[in-house]
Amino acid sequence: MKKTNVAFLDRDGVINSSRLNNGYVGSLKHFRWVPGAIKAIKFLNEKNYKVVVVTNQSGVARGFFTIKDVKKIHIYIQKKLKINNTKIDAFYFCPFHKDGIIKRYKKDSSLRKPKIGMYRLAQKRWNIDRKNSFIIGDQKTDIEFAKKAKINGYLFNQKNLHQFIRMNVIKDWKKYTAKSKWGFIYYSLKKSTADPIAKYGRDNRWKHLSEKLTSKLVLPIEPS
Ligand SMILES: [Mg+2]
Repeated sequence: MKKTNVAFLDRDGVINSSRLNNGYVGSLKHFRWVPGAIKAIKFLNEKNYKVVVVTNQSGVARGFFTIKDVKKIHIYIQKKLKINNTKIDAFYFCPFHKDGIIKRYKKDSSLRKPKIGMYRLAQKRWNIDRKNSFIIGDQKTDIEFAKKAKINGYLFNQKNLHQFIRMNVIKDWKKYTAKSKWGFIYYSLKKSTADPIAKYGRDNRWKHLSEKLTSKLVLPIEPS
């Protein structure tokens, strides 16, 4: 069976930025996209990763919301991704918690991160290439999950998910080397030095360029 690269994404704190209700997001009203999340998922798709959400939803066991509510959010996410020509390949979530009040979901489940039951579910579906697979999460438990599953773990501690992935996880821009970077700088200089003083004034003649460069250089430069 062909090996598959899998990008596991935690949901709350990685795809959804909302901290409303102490982070128990059971309604679309409380869902907020993390900047760059859709772009990031699209990028992972293009790089041939299966994108799999793995999320603890103990809010179900605690009686804050139902399984149906969780699924509603996942359907919404998928719909929004579809509009953007991309998708998540699987949503796995753990509704259980040992201190839950809903009897059916009150248990110490092997699905709950940092345990790797959800990784095992993905393993049933794909022959996961551990070396190239990873999880991005915002909690220590996500990193523990990575260690137990023997995949890479990245703690998402920035604002933009796409940018985070391009800078820290899939650094494919490295192969474009300094050449294209300098090519871009040269091009920008050439383009902007026609008469920068007349156009921007003496004080600002380089400022606009440096701003432009920094904004471009934040993200890896693509080959033209
Ligand atoms: Mg989280």
